[in-house]
Amino acid sequence: MRPSSKLLNSLRSLQRAAPTWLSSRMLCQYSKHWKIPNKHPSPGHFSLCKTRVVSLQWIPAHCGVPGNENADILAKLGATDNQPQNAITHEENVTMIKALTKPRPTKDDYHLLERWEQVIILRLRTGHNRLNAHMCTKLKLSPSPMCHCGLEQKTAEHILQRCPCLENQRKSVWPNSTLIKTKVHGKKEDLKKTASFIAGSGVTV
Ligand SMILES: [Zn+2]
Repeated sequence: MRPSSKLLNSLRSLQRAAPTWLSSRMLCQYSKHWKIPNKHPSPGHFSLCKTRVVSLQWIPAHCGVPGNENADILAKLGATDNQPQNAITHEENVTMIKALTKPRPTKDDYHLLERWEQVIILRLRTGHNRLNAHMCTKLKLSPSPMCHCGLEQKTAEHILQRCPCLENQRKSVWPNSTLIKTKVHGKKEDLKKTASFIAGSGVTV
């Protein structure tokens, strides 16, 4: 007996009032039997409708069906099991895949600087420095956060970009207007300029 015939027989044997839901596989089997030549239902279809009210409704698979959910959980657990024929563990595989697919950060020329230059650049980048703004507001080791020019708090940006006391020196290093991003996060030559500017300014960072 064909699977579709078995299905029809099973449906006929059910109570008339009992709702019947078909899985997609069962529906496919039934559809093979439910030929519709010239858009007319087959005798098999008529015979089913005599005893049953048939409603066709699509039900998303693996959504809230306990058996399917359990099968999914077991499949996922099985996928994490180590396989004896593989020399590396599942965790190592995951780490390797993440490392290979993770976008690599762009190279930071900070690592190409001399040590004393790195110290200056790092302190300017992080704000953890000996400038008044940090020494006063964070460390409470300075009576005022202000620059001695009296115009602004003494921050890395003020020193690098605006302090009038350093205007001439700043112009000699950067004749043209230069973004602070370039000065602090730029290429090797940009960073070396910044370090030499700070070293020559007499400002302790
Ligand atoms: Zn100033």
